Amino acid sequence: MKITPIIGLETHVELKTKSKMFCGCDASHFHAEPNTHTCPVCLGLPGALPVPNRTACEWDIKLGLALHCSVNQSSFFERKNYFYPDLPKGYQITQYQKPFTVNGYLDVDGERIRINRAHMEEDTGKSQHVTLDLQEMTLIDYNRSGVPLVEIVTEPDIHSSAIAKKYLLKLQQLIRYLGISDADIEKGSMRCEPTVNLQIDTDDGRTVYTPLAEIKNVASLTGAESAIEYEIQRQLAEWQKNYVEKSATNKTTRGWDAEKSVTFLQREKEGSADYRYFPEPDIPPMEFSAVEIEAIRITIPELPEEKMAKYKSLGLSDYDANLIADDIFIAGIFEHILNNSSDKDYAKFIANMLFGPLRTVQLDPKKINRDSFKKIFENRRNLNSNSIKQLLLDSYQSGQDPLTLAEEKNLLQVSDTSQIEKFAKQVIEANPKAVADYQKNPNSIGFLVGQLMKVSGGAANPQLAREVLEKLLK
Ligand SMILES: [Zn+2]
Repeated sequence: MKITPIIGLETHVELKTKSKMFCGCDASHFHAEPNTHTCPVCLGLPGALPVPNRTACEWDIKLGLALHCSVNQSSFFERKNYFYPDLPKGYQITQYQKPFTVNGYLDVDGERIRINRAHMEEDTGKSQHVTLDLQEMTLIDYNRSGVPLVEIVTEPDIHSSAIAKKYLLKLQQLIRYLGISDADIEKGSMRCEPTVNLQIDTDDGRTVYTPLAEIKNVASLTGAESAIEYEIQRQLAEWQKNYVEKSATNKTTRGWDAEKSVTFLQREKEGSADYRYFPEPDIPPMEFSAVEIEAIRITIPELPEEKMAKYKSLGLSDYDANLIADDIFIAGIFEHILNNSSDKDYAKFIANMLFGPLRTVQLDPKKINRDSFKKIFENRRNLNSNSIKQLLLDSYQSGQDPLTLAEEKNLLQVSDTSQIEKFAKQVIEANPKAVADYQKNPNSIGFLVGQLMKVSGGAANPQLAREVLEKLLK
């Protein structure tokens, strides 16, 4: 028997536009007083008319393009009808037959995961189940109602929970690079719903499929991975017990209980026909010309993979290149300091500093002074080698010129021959035995150089120290 998990992911991402999808209300809803960001449109009051948010539509297309999708030049919104208290209109405005973008892909670990669509819709309100005056009740906050939401749907091309997690990480990184959402799973600005079933190739040569299960309430990346893994094992055990195969009617919706690490049955799923989709009569069809689409495409920044390749060509290790490219903020700082230089030593120096001393502070791009970096780098052989990192940190924090600082703090290397001669004479006088050893074996000079470095407080130029000692001991 051969088991192949078949996994598709639907991911919802809240866009961080200023206003909501179809009205002018403030779209930021975290930590806002409940029901303060509302108006007749997002409360679904009769007669209120929706007006699409242009920026949200363009960001959806931007994401679609970054996912290699093609853009439908003409598309339209539709009503998805269902009843739920957090959906005051009784329908959600979404895209169904003609989404903005379709048929793309995202490569993860060398595997191509096809993207069916990245379409535009609106978020619902939020229900809160509470107990007040000993009575259980549900409170509803409509601040989230009508916040722009992009739904990214994959084909069922994922075959392990590990790849599912990597896909989500990569999608999250891409969205953050595009600057269109925080894509924070823990906060709910990115939410994913895996659909899982198994392909089973039985020993007697048959291929069967277990019933589809869609998993809801996944609130972390690790949760997504665990929920899928749990569902794979559950479906296998279920199959071995009752041999039920996938049919047109037995798809179920399951919740994920993060505390118990189990999925549980929520409801038998209604088929898509039950939503009675139809074109939204209050919003005219949307048109995007080839020129407008191109204008959106050019706002896509250089993406992580291109950055990785660029950093590796600068001589950085895979590890360093990945670490920098992973975070658009760090990548921006790295490139700002590098300032288009192709000096490999300098690139390595910056990487070392970013992941060394500067990792301990909250980096403020406005305080980063690339001239200071350059000065320290160019003078690194004249600086007391133990102090470079501290000097960088000090000049970053104080905003002072690093060389002035180095002078003040006596961090410059002593390369003055007469000064080093003084140190050398001191060392020779104090170490008659080592001097005698040196006369027999010139290789033992290392000890005396070490003593000289010690006497100079680490400030002597070691090369010069050796030369002076050799000269005096001749
Ligand atoms: Zn509103």
